[in-house]
Amino acid sequence: MIGFDLSEDHLSVERLVRELVAKEVAPRIAENDAKHFFDRSILGKMAEIGLLGICIPAEQGGAGFDYLSLGLACEELEYGDTSLRVILSVHVGLNGLTLLSWGTAEQKARYLVPQSKGLKIATFGMTEPDAGSDVVGLQSTARRDGKDYLLNGEKTWISLADVADHFLVIAWTDLEKKRQRDHSGLSAFIVERTMPGFASGTLEQKWGIRAGNTGFFSMNDMRVPIENRIGEEGEGFKIAMFALEQGRYTVAAGATGLIRACLDASRKYARERKTFGKAIGEHQLVKEMIAQMALDYDVSRLLWLRCGWMKNEGLRNNRETSQAKWYATVASERAASDAVQIHGAYGYSDEYPVGRYYRNCKGAVIYEGTREIHKLMQADYALGYRHDKPVRCSLPPVGSR
Ligand SMILES: Cc1cc2nc3c(=O)[nH]c(=O)nc-3n(C[C@H](O)[C@H](O)[C@H](O)COP(=O)(O)OP(=O)(O)OC[C@H]3O[C@@H](n4cnc5c(N)ncnc54)[C@H](O)[C@@H]3O)c2cc1C
Repeated sequence: MIGFDLSEDHLSVERLVRELVAKEVAPRIAENDAKHFFDRSILGKMAEIGLLGICIPAEQGGAGFDYLSLGLACEELEYGDTSLRVILSVHVGLNGLTLLSWGTAEQKARYLVPQSKGLKIATFGMTEPDAGSDVVGLQSTARRDGKDYLLNGEKTWISLADVADHFLVIAWTDLEKKRQRDHSGLSAFIVERTMPGFASGTLEQKWGIRAGNTGFFSMNDMRVPIENRIGEEGEGFKIAMFALEQGRYTVAAGATGLIRACLDASRKYARERKTFGKAIGEHQLVKEMIAQMALDYDVSRLLWLRCGWMKNEGLRNNRETSQAKWYATVASERAASDAVQIHGAYGYSDEYPVGRYYRNCKGAVIYEGTREIHKLMQADYALGYRHDKPVRCSLPPVGSR
Protein backbone atom coordinates (compact mmCIF):
# COMPACT_ATOMS: atom_id res chain seq x y z
CA MET A 1 0.00 0.00 0.00
CA ILE A 2 1.29 3.47 -0.81
CA GLY A 3 0.83 6.25 1.73
CA PHE A 4 1.86 9.85 1.46
CA ASP A 5 1.21 10.87 5.06
CA LEU A 6 4.06 11.96 7.28
CA SER A 7 4.15 10.41 10.75
CA GLU A 8 3.91 12.43 13.97
CA ASP A 9 7.69 12.09 14.31
CA HIS A 10 8.22 13.49 10.81
CA LEU A 11 5.87 16.38 11.43
CA SER A 12 7.61 17.22 14.69
CA VAL A 13 11.04 17.23 12.98
CA GLU A 14 9.65 19.51 10.27
CA ARG A 15 8.12 21.83 12.88
CA LEU A 16 11.25 21.93 15.03
CA VAL A 17 13.57 22.78 12.14
CA ARG A 18 11.11 25.31 10.74
CA GLU A 19 11.04 27.05 14.12
CA LEU A 20 14.84 27.02 14.36
CA VAL A 21 15.13 28.59 10.92
CA ALA A 22 12.47 31.23 11.64
CA LYS A 23 13.99 32.18 15.01
CA GLU A 24 17.73 31.78 14.58
CA VAL A 25 18.39 32.08 10.86
CA ALA A 26 15.82 34.26 9.09
CA PRO A 27 16.49 37.45 11.11
CA ARG A 28 20.26 37.40 10.43
CA ILE A 29 20.83 35.54 7.20
CA ALA A 30 20.81 38.51 4.81
CA GLU A 31 23.48 40.26 6.89
CA ASN A 32 25.61 37.14 7.35
CA ASP A 33 25.40 36.45 3.62
CA ALA A 34 26.39 40.01 2.76
CA LYS A 35 29.36 39.86 5.17
CA HIS A 36 30.46 36.35 4.14
CA PHE A 37 30.07 35.44 7.80
CA PHE A 38 29.81 31.84 8.97
CA ASP A 39 27.95 31.99 12.26
CA ARG A 40 29.43 29.17 14.35
CA SER A 41 26.80 29.60 17.03
CA ILE A 42 24.28 27.89 14.75
CA LEU A 43 26.14 24.59 15.20
CA GLY A 44 25.35 24.60 18.93
CA LYS A 45 21.72 25.41 18.23
CA MET A 46 21.48 22.60 15.68
CA ALA A 47 23.11 20.21 18.16
CA GLU A 48 20.70 21.25 20.91
CA ILE A 49 17.73 19.89 18.99
CA GLY A 50 19.59 16.76 17.86
CA LEU A 51 19.99 17.81 14.23
CA LEU A 52 23.69 16.97 14.00
CA GLY A 53 22.91 13.30 14.53
CA ILE A 54 19.31 13.33 13.39
CA CYS A 55 19.17 9.91 11.69
CA ILE A 56 22.03 8.28 13.59
CA PRO A 57 20.89 5.63 16.10
CA ALA A 58 20.82 6.65 19.78
CA GLU A 59 23.58 4.09 20.61
CA GLN A 60 25.86 6.10 18.33
CA GLY A 61 24.96 9.37 20.02
CA GLY A 62 22.27 10.36 17.51
CA ALA A 63 18.62 11.37 17.77
CA GLY A 64 17.50 8.04 16.28
CA PHE A 65 15.10 9.38 13.64
CA ASP A 66 14.79 7.75 10.21
CA TYR A 67 16.29 8.85 6.89
CA LEU A 68 13.10 10.63 5.80
CA SER A 69 13.60 12.90 8.81
CA LEU A 70 17.06 13.80 7.50
CA GLY A 71 15.47 14.84 4.20
CA LEU A 72 12.76 16.85 5.93
CA ALA A 73 15.38 18.67 8.02
CA CYS A 74 17.40 19.45 4.87
CA GLU A 75 14.37 20.81 3.04
CA GLU A 76 13.53 23.10 5.97
CA LEU A 77 17.13 24.23 6.47
CA GLU A 78 17.61 25.18 2.83
CA TYR A 79 14.30 27.01 2.89
CA GLY A 80 16.18 29.30 5.27
CA ASP A 81 19.59 29.23 3.64
CA THR A 82 21.70 26.78 1.66
CA SER A 83 24.63 27.19 4.06
CA LEU A 84 22.65 25.42 6.82
CA ARG A 85 21.69 22.47 4.68
CA VAL A 86 25.34 22.11 3.60
CA ILE A 87 26.25 21.54 7.26
CA LEU A 88 23.92 18.54 7.42
CA SER A 89 25.03 17.31 4.00
CA VAL A 90 28.69 17.01 4.91
CA HIS A 91 28.43 16.34 8.65
CA VAL A 92 25.63 13.74 8.60
CA GLY A 93 25.18 12.78 4.93
CA LEU A 94 28.70 12.36 3.61
CA ASN A 95 30.59 11.70 6.84
CA GLY A 96 28.28 10.39 9.60
CA LEU A 97 26.26 7.92 7.53
CA THR A 98 29.47 6.60 5.98
CA LEU A 99 30.97 5.95 9.41
CA LEU A 100 27.70 4.35 10.50
CA SER A 101 27.79 1.95 7.54
CA TRP A 102 31.52 1.37 7.00
CA GLY A 103 33.16 2.27 10.32
CA THR A 104 34.47 -0.19 12.92
CA ALA A 105 32.96 -0.21 16.42
CA GLU A 106 36.03 1.66 17.61
CA GLN A 107 35.76 4.31 14.86
CA LYS A 108 32.10 4.82 15.66
CA ALA A 109 32.82 5.24 19.37
CA ARG A 110 35.72 7.59 18.74
CA TYR A 111 34.30 9.70 15.90
CA LEU A 112 30.64 9.08 15.14
CA VAL A 113 29.38 9.43 18.72
CA PRO A 114 30.87 12.90 19.39
CA GLN A 115 29.89 14.02 15.89
CA SER A 116 26.28 12.91 16.35
CA LYS A 117 26.09 14.79 19.63
CA GLY A 118 27.49 17.86 17.91
CA LEU A 119 30.62 17.89 20.06
CA LYS A 120 32.75 17.54 16.92
CA ILE A 121 32.02 18.71 13.39
CA ALA A 122 32.83 16.56 10.37
CA THR A 123 33.14 16.91 6.62
CA PHE A 124 34.27 15.18 3.43
CA GLY A 125 37.47 15.87 1.51
CA MET A 126 37.73 14.44 -1.95
CA THR A 127 38.03 17.32 -4.45
CA GLU A 128 41.49 18.65 -5.34
CA PRO A 129 42.74 21.59 -7.39
CA ASP A 130 42.99 19.38 -10.51
CA ALA A 131 40.35 16.74 -9.86
CA GLY A 132 36.62 17.04 -9.18
CA SER A 133 34.41 14.87 -11.39
CA ASP A 134 37.44 12.87 -12.45
CA VAL A 135 38.08 11.11 -9.14
CA VAL A 136 41.01 9.02 -10.41
CA GLY A 137 42.74 12.30 -11.22
CA LEU A 138 43.31 12.86 -7.47
CA GLN A 139 46.93 13.36 -6.43
CA SER A 140 46.76 12.87 -2.64
CA THR A 141 48.67 9.85 -1.40
CA ALA A 142 48.74 7.75 1.77
CA ARG A 143 52.00 5.85 2.10
CA ARG A 144 52.21 3.06 4.66
CA ASP A 145 54.87 3.67 7.31
CA GLY A 146 54.89 1.05 10.08
CA LYS A 147 51.57 1.23 11.94
CA ASP A 148 50.70 4.54 10.31
CA TYR A 149 50.09 6.12 6.94
CA LEU A 150 51.77 9.31 5.85
CA LEU A 151 49.23 11.47 4.05
CA ASN A 152 50.26 14.14 1.57
CA GLY A 153 48.08 16.27 -0.69
CA GLU A 154 45.86 19.30 -1.20
CA LYS A 155 42.09 19.36 -1.05
CA THR A 156 40.02 22.30 -2.19
CA TRP A 157 36.39 23.38 -2.42
CA ILE A 158 35.74 21.55 0.83
CA SER A 159 32.64 22.60 2.78
CA LEU A 160 33.48 23.48 6.40
CA ALA A 161 37.22 23.07 5.67
CA ASP A 162 38.05 25.80 8.17
CA VAL A 163 35.44 24.69 10.70
CA ALA A 164 35.38 20.89 10.89
CA ASP A 165 37.31 18.78 13.41
CA HIS A 166 37.17 15.51 11.44
CA PHE A 167 37.63 14.90 7.71
CA LEU A 168 36.83 11.86 5.60
CA VAL A 169 39.70 11.93 3.12
CA ILE A 170 40.23 9.97 -0.09
CA ALA A 171 43.83 9.30 -1.15
CA TRP A 172 45.87 6.77 -3.15
CA THR A 173 47.45 3.90 -1.25
CA ASP A 174 48.60 2.09 -4.42
CA LEU A 175 50.82 4.29 -6.58
CA GLU A 176 50.97 1.82 -9.46
CA LYS A 177 47.17 1.87 -9.66
CA LYS A 178 47.29 5.66 -9.44
CA ARG A 179 49.50 5.65 -12.54
CA GLN A 180 47.06 3.30 -14.29
CA ARG A 181 44.06 5.36 -13.14
CA ASP A 182 42.59 2.26 -11.50
CA HIS A 183 40.29 3.40 -8.71
CA SER A 184 40.86 0.23 -6.70
CA GLY A 185 44.09 1.89 -5.53
CA LEU A 186 42.19 4.53 -3.52
CA SER A 187 41.54 4.32 0.24
CA ALA A 188 39.54 6.32 2.77
CA PHE A 189 40.77 7.80 6.05
CA ILE A 190 39.52 9.74 9.02
CA VAL A 191 41.78 12.72 9.56
CA GLU A 192 41.73 15.07 12.52
CA ARG A 193 42.45 18.78 12.31
CA THR A 194 44.83 18.46 15.27
CA MET A 195 47.11 15.94 13.52
CA PRO A 196 50.52 17.50 12.82
CA GLY A 197 50.90 18.37 9.13
CA PHE A 198 47.31 19.60 8.68
CA ALA A 199 46.58 23.18 7.61
CA SER A 200 43.36 24.75 6.30
CA GLY A 201 42.04 28.02 4.91
CA THR A 202 38.83 29.62 3.62
CA LEU A 203 38.01 30.41 -0.02
CA GLU A 204 37.22 34.11 0.18
CA GLN A 205 35.97 34.80 -3.33
CA LYS A 206 32.94 32.52 -3.39
CA TRP A 207 29.84 34.25 -4.76
CA GLY A 208 27.17 31.91 -3.41
CA ILE A 209 26.47 30.18 -0.08
CA ARG A 210 28.31 33.14 1.40
CA ALA A 211 27.05 32.49 4.93
CA GLY A 212 28.72 29.08 4.72
CA ASN A 213 32.36 28.10 5.04
CA THR A 214 34.09 26.57 2.02
CA GLY A 215 37.83 26.16 1.92
CA PHE A 216 40.91 24.07 1.36
CA PHE A 217 43.29 22.00 3.40
CA SER A 218 46.70 20.50 2.97
CA MET A 219 48.26 17.39 4.43
CA ASN A 220 52.00 17.45 4.75
CA ASP A 221 53.54 14.15 5.89
CA MET A 222 50.57 13.84 8.16
CA ARG A 223 50.83 10.70 10.31
CA VAL A 224 47.48 8.89 10.43
CA PRO A 225 47.20 5.63 12.41
CA ILE A 226 46.10 2.53 10.53
CA GLU A 227 43.01 2.38 12.80
CA ASN A 228 41.83 5.53 11.01
CA ARG A 229 41.51 3.83 7.65
CA ILE A 230 37.83 3.28 6.83
CA GLY A 231 37.23 -0.09 5.18
CA GLU A 232 40.03 -2.04 3.53
CA GLU A 233 42.86 -0.65 1.48
CA GLY A 234 41.49 -0.17 -2.03
CA GLU A 235 37.89 0.45 -0.93
CA GLY A 236 38.22 4.23 -1.00
CA PHE A 237 36.38 4.73 -4.28
CA LYS A 238 33.43 2.59 -3.18
CA ILE A 239 33.33 4.43 0.14
CA ALA A 240 33.43 7.80 -1.63
CA MET A 241 30.56 6.78 -3.93
CA PHE A 242 28.59 5.53 -0.92
CA ALA A 243 29.19 8.82 0.90
CA LEU A 244 28.11 10.79 -2.17
CA GLU A 245 24.91 8.81 -2.44
CA GLN A 246 23.95 9.92 1.07
CA GLY A 247 25.11 13.48 0.41
CA ARG A 248 23.14 13.69 -2.84
CA TYR A 249 20.00 12.72 -1.01
CA THR A 250 20.42 15.70 1.33
CA VAL A 251 21.20 17.99 -1.62
CA ALA A 252 18.02 16.87 -3.43
CA ALA A 253 15.87 17.53 -0.36
CA GLY A 254 17.60 20.87 0.23
CA ALA A 255 17.13 22.05 -3.36
CA THR A 256 13.44 21.22 -2.93
CA GLY A 257 13.36 23.63 0.01
CA LEU A 258 14.99 26.29 -2.10
CA ILE A 259 12.30 25.85 -4.78
CA ARG A 260 9.64 26.32 -2.08
CA ALA A 261 11.39 29.47 -0.86
CA CYS A 262 11.36 30.82 -4.45
CA LEU A 263 7.70 29.91 -4.85
CA ASP A 264 6.67 31.58 -1.57
CA ALA A 265 8.60 34.78 -2.30
CA SER A 266 7.34 34.88 -5.90
CA ARG A 267 3.67 34.34 -5.20
CA LYS A 268 3.71 37.02 -2.51
CA TYR A 269 5.36 39.51 -4.83
CA ALA A 270 3.19 38.51 -7.80
CA ARG A 271 0.06 39.28 -5.81
CA GLU A 272 1.36 42.65 -4.60
CA ARG A 273 3.14 44.15 -7.59
CA LYS A 274 0.89 45.80 -10.15
CA THR A 275 1.56 46.58 -13.82
CA PHE A 276 -0.92 47.62 -16.50
CA GLY A 277 -3.62 47.98 -13.87
CA LYS A 278 -3.45 44.48 -12.39
CA ALA A 279 -1.33 42.27 -10.17
CA ILE A 280 1.53 40.75 -12.17
CA GLY A 281 0.26 37.34 -10.98
CA GLU A 282 -2.65 37.84 -13.34
CA HIS A 283 -0.40 38.03 -16.40
CA GLN A 284 -0.22 34.67 -18.13
CA LEU A 285 3.56 34.66 -18.55
CA VAL A 286 4.07 35.24 -14.82
CA LYS A 287 1.52 32.50 -14.09
CA GLU A 288 3.60 30.18 -16.25
CA MET A 289 6.69 30.74 -14.08
CA ILE A 290 4.70 30.23 -10.88
CA ALA A 291 3.09 27.07 -12.26
CA GLN A 292 6.49 25.66 -13.21
CA MET A 293 7.82 26.33 -9.69
CA ALA A 294 4.80 24.63 -8.11
CA LEU A 295 5.25 21.62 -10.38
CA ASP A 296 9.00 21.46 -9.77
CA TYR A 297 8.44 21.60 -6.03
CA ASP A 298 6.06 18.63 -6.07
CA VAL A 299 8.19 16.54 -8.45
CA SER A 300 11.38 17.24 -6.52
CA ARG A 301 9.72 16.46 -3.21
CA LEU A 302 8.24 13.20 -4.45
CA LEU A 303 11.60 12.16 -5.88
CA TRP A 304 13.53 12.69 -2.65
CA LEU A 305 10.75 11.21 -0.50
CA ARG A 306 11.00 8.05 -2.60
CA CYS A 307 14.75 7.90 -1.87
CA GLY A 308 14.18 8.42 1.86
CA TRP A 309 11.64 5.63 1.90
CA MET A 310 14.04 3.32 0.03
CA LYS A 311 16.81 4.14 2.51
CA ASN A 312 14.48 3.35 5.41
CA GLU A 313 13.66 0.01 3.80
CA GLY A 314 17.30 -0.84 3.01
CA LEU A 315 16.75 -0.81 -0.78
CA ARG A 316 19.52 0.23 -3.19
CA ASN A 317 18.80 3.77 -4.36
CA ASN A 318 21.81 4.97 -6.37
CA ARG A 319 19.74 5.52 -9.51
CA GLU A 320 16.85 7.14 -7.69
CA THR A 321 19.11 9.39 -5.60
CA SER A 322 21.10 10.53 -8.62
CA GLN A 323 17.82 11.29 -10.39
CA ALA A 324 16.40 13.20 -7.41
CA LYS A 325 19.59 15.25 -7.02
CA TRP A 326 19.81 15.98 -10.74
CA TYR A 327 16.17 16.97 -11.10
CA ALA A 328 15.83 19.03 -7.92
CA THR A 329 19.04 21.03 -8.39
CA VAL A 330 18.34 21.86 -12.03
CA ALA A 331 14.75 22.75 -11.10
CA SER A 332 16.00 24.94 -8.23
CA GLU A 333 18.16 26.88 -10.66
CA ARG A 334 15.13 27.42 -12.90
CA ALA A 335 13.00 28.44 -9.91
CA ALA A 336 15.59 30.89 -8.59
CA SER A 337 16.13 32.45 -12.00
CA ASP A 338 12.37 32.87 -12.47
CA ALA A 339 11.97 34.21 -8.93
CA VAL A 340 14.45 36.97 -9.77
CA GLN A 341 12.60 37.56 -13.06
CA ILE A 342 9.25 37.90 -11.30
CA HIS A 343 10.75 40.48 -8.93
CA GLY A 344 12.02 42.53 -11.86
CA ALA A 345 14.75 45.02 -10.96
CA TYR A 346 14.10 44.49 -7.24
CA GLY A 347 15.06 40.86 -7.70
CA TYR A 348 18.38 42.02 -9.06
CA SER A 349 19.43 43.37 -5.68
CA ASP A 350 19.71 42.20 -2.10
CA GLU A 351 16.53 43.99 -1.15
CA TYR A 352 14.66 40.70 -1.60
CA PRO A 353 15.99 37.22 -0.78
CA VAL A 354 15.59 35.85 -4.31
CA GLY A 355 19.01 37.12 -5.42
CA ARG A 356 20.55 35.05 -2.61
CA TYR A 357 18.55 32.02 -3.73
CA TYR A 358 19.87 32.52 -7.25
CA ARG A 359 23.49 32.65 -6.09
CA ASN A 360 23.04 29.76 -3.69
CA CYS A 361 21.31 27.30 -5.99
CA LYS A 362 24.11 27.10 -8.54
CA GLY A 363 26.60 25.31 -6.26
CA ALA A 364 24.33 22.29 -6.00
CA VAL A 365 24.22 21.97 -9.79
CA ILE A 366 28.00 21.50 -9.55
CA TYR A 367 28.82 19.62 -6.33
CA GLU A 368 28.07 15.99 -5.51
CA GLY A 369 28.10 15.10 -9.19
CA THR A 370 27.59 17.86 -11.73
CA ARG A 371 24.42 18.12 -13.80
CA GLU A 372 26.33 16.54 -16.69
CA ILE A 373 27.63 13.60 -14.64
CA HIS A 374 24.12 12.79 -13.39
CA LYS A 375 22.68 13.11 -16.88
CA LEU A 376 25.26 10.61 -18.15
CA MET A 377 24.56 8.27 -15.22
CA GLN A 378 20.82 8.38 -15.87
CA ALA A 379 21.31 7.73 -19.57
CA ASP A 380 23.53 4.75 -18.79
CA TYR A 381 20.97 3.31 -16.34
CA ALA A 382 18.22 3.77 -18.92
CA LEU A 383 20.28 2.21 -21.70
CA GLY A 384 21.31 -0.74 -19.53
CA TYR A 385 25.00 0.24 -19.65
CA ARG A 386 25.16 0.84 -15.92
CA HIS A 387 24.29 -1.62 -13.16
CA ASP A 388 24.80 -1.27 -9.41
CA LYS A 389 27.38 -3.82 -8.31
CA PRO A 390 27.00 -5.65 -4.97
CA VAL A 391 28.46 -3.69 -2.05
CA ARG A 392 30.16 -4.95 1.11
CA CYS A 393 28.51 -2.36 3.36
CA SER A 394 25.17 -0.64 3.02
CA LEU A 395 23.11 1.85 4.96
CA PRO A 396 21.41 -0.02 7.84
CA PRO A 397 17.64 -0.09 7.21
CA VAL A 398 15.71 1.72 9.92
CA GLY A 399 14.04 -1.48 11.17
CA SER A 400 17.39 -3.21 11.77
CA ARG A 401 19.08 -0.51 13.85
C1 LIG B 1 30.12 25.34 -2.83
C2 LIG B 1 30.85 24.07 -3.09
C3 LIG B 1 31.07 23.18 -2.05
C4 LIG B 1 31.78 22.00 -2.25
N1 LIG B 1 32.00 21.14 -1.20
C5 LIG B 1 32.76 20.02 -1.38
C6 LIG B 1 33.09 19.16 -0.28
O1 LIG B 1 32.65 19.38 0.85
N2 LIG B 1 33.91 18.11 -0.50
C7 LIG B 1 34.43 17.82 -1.72
O2 LIG B 1 35.18 16.85 -1.85
N3 LIG B 1 34.13 18.62 -2.81
C8 LIG B 1 33.32 19.70 -2.66
N4 LIG B 1 33.03 20.53 -3.72
C9 LIG B 1 33.64 20.25 -5.01
C10 LIG B 1 32.68 19.62 -6.01
O3 LIG B 1 32.33 18.34 -5.62
C11 LIG B 1 33.35 19.67 -7.40
O4 LIG B 1 33.38 21.05 -7.76
C12 LIG B 1 32.58 18.87 -8.43
O5 LIG B 1 32.80 17.49 -8.21
C13 LIG B 1 32.99 19.22 -9.87
O6 LIG B 1 34.36 19.14 -10.00
P1 LIG B 1 35.16 20.37 -10.67
O7 LIG B 1 34.73 21.62 -10.02
O8 LIG B 1 36.59 19.99 -10.61
O9 LIG B 1 34.67 20.42 -12.16
P2 LIG B 1 35.20 19.49 -13.35
O10 LIG B 1 35.14 18.06 -12.95
O11 LIG B 1 36.52 20.00 -13.83
O12 LIG B 1 34.10 19.78 -14.47
C14 LIG B 1 34.05 21.01 -15.20
C15 LIG B 1 32.88 20.92 -16.18
O13 LIG B 1 33.10 19.84 -17.11
C16 LIG B 1 31.99 18.95 -17.07
N5 LIG B 1 32.45 17.57 -17.19
C17 LIG B 1 33.47 16.97 -16.52
N6 LIG B 1 33.59 15.69 -16.90
C18 LIG B 1 32.63 15.48 -17.83
C19 LIG B 1 32.23 14.34 -18.60
N7 LIG B 1 32.81 13.15 -18.46
N8 LIG B 1 31.21 14.50 -19.47
C20 LIG B 1 30.56 15.69 -19.59
N9 LIG B 1 30.89 16.80 -18.89
C21 LIG B 1 31.90 16.69 -18.02
C22 LIG B 1 31.36 19.15 -15.68
O14 LIG B 1 30.01 18.74 -15.67
C23 LIG B 1 31.54 20.65 -15.50
O15 LIG B 1 30.52 21.30 -16.18
C24 LIG B 1 32.28 21.69 -3.55
C25 LIG B 1 32.04 22.59 -4.60
C26 LIG B 1 31.33 23.75 -4.38
C27 LIG B 1 31.08 24.69 -5.53
